[in-house]
Amino acid sequence: MASRIRQGDTVEIISGDDRGLRGAVQLLVSRGARVIISGANIVKKHQRPVRAGRGQVQPGIIELEAPVHISNVMLVCSKCDRPSRVRFVRNEDGRAERVCKRCGEAID
Ligand SMILES: [Zn+2]
Repeated sequence: MASRIRQGDTVEIISGDDRGLRGAVQLLVSRGARVIISGANIVKKHQRPVRAGRGQVQPGIIELEAPVHISNVMLVCSKCDRPSRVRFVRNEDGRAERVCKRCGEAID
């Protein structure tokens, strides 16, 4: 089953505090159920100094992107620049291609 959202895609967050924010998908996690989006869903973690091997982790507050469930994001079409639903169309080589439901253009 081809995934609706892929690494490197631009997505828009459609719910929560970051609604309306756009970012690039950095990583798919939880078997593709969640994505890490650069600059979105920032959480602060309090990091205690930990000795890990030869290096020492910086103590203090670190900010990192928490995974966002894919139901809370929408793919931004690279052709019409709007958050869009996609449908899958099989192309000549049998590969599933994503097509924007708004403008009808292939996204990949
Ligand atoms: Zn489009």
